[in-house]
Amino acid sequence: GGGGGCRRVRGPELRELLASKRDVLFDCDGVIWNGEAAVAGAPEAVRLLKQRGKRVFFVTNNCTRPRCNYAHKFSRLGFSGVAEEEIFSSAYCSAAYLRDVAQLRGKVFAIGGHGVLQELRDAGLDVVSEDEADGPDFSIYDFPLDPEVRAVLVGFDEKFNFIKLAKACCYLRDSEVLFLATDPDPWHPLRGGRITPGSGSLTAALETASSRKAMVIGKPSRFMFECIASQFDLDPAQSLMVGDRLETDILFGANCGLSTVLTLTGVSTLEQAQEYKDSESPEKKDFVPDYVVDSIGDFLEALEE
Ligand code: PLP
Ligand code: CA
Repeated sequence: GGGGGCRRVRGPELRELLASKRDVLFDCDGVIWNGEAAVAGAPEAVRLLKQRGKRVFFVTNNCTRPRCNYAHKFSRLGFSGVAEEEIFSSAYCSAAYLRDVAQLRGKVFAIGGHGVLQELRDAGLDVVSEDEADGPDFSIYDFPLDPEVRAVLVGFDEKFNFIKLAKACCYLRDSEVLFLATDPDPWHPLRGGRITPGSGSLTAALETASSRKAMVIGKPSRFMFECIASQFDLDPAQSLMVGDRLETDILFGANCGLSTVLTLTGVSTLEQAQEYKDSESPEKKDFVPDYVVDSIGDFLEALEE
């Protein structure tokens, strides 16, 4: 990285930075788009990067959609030619981990929505979901447990409830049952100044109930980078991570040995980055971006001929 310099770059300096890298990893929400609106200039910036020979990857902690839905979202928002294979979500990577790294034999008890369930199934995993359980309603004292469950995966789940929590912590009594979380995000901004709780808050409930710690798959864990690197032969020294959240994206970049760029179109502010930089504590240094831009719209003037 650039030593956590928190250096504001634009124009020729940004041009030089981009020229020095082969691959660019983008966080999605807060960098590429905000909700259903593309960040101004983002589609053009991605197109120009590719035209300049860069490989571009999208790394999102959002587990709510399967890969193919993201590909549709990119095209709906005006990004042309973004392929599923370039999109790495915490749901996709969780499924990849369970299949390829853990080589899971047995079922996954999944707490999550459509994106989580679909990615697990696309990976050929056997999924148990409370939302799909039918039959009589059981009380918390006598619900059935599936003896074939060998992993619990928790992600963002708008239908999170007590029975899911109760089942998950029963499965987790067996220390051989794997405990995974899609991502550690505490909350996300919504429109109109509201926020929504994130997967991290649901994971915290399971951690408390089970007295165990989940293994986190999404940013800032290194696994998402390893997942991309295993498919595309990435070199950390030649890769740039662009994100809007210091505690996930920038730490992820630091954990993986990537240069990092903070954009100011999302969650974190320049003041927060500066505070981490001025902090005495050495571990806070990993939250400090190497570079700061207002927006990836700034990439445009740096990429134009
Ligand atoms: N998870 C959920 C449920 C979200 O709504 C969001 C952002 O809106 C995220 C995760 C974060 O996504 P990203 O990593 O692309 O910022
Ligand atoms: Ca983000």
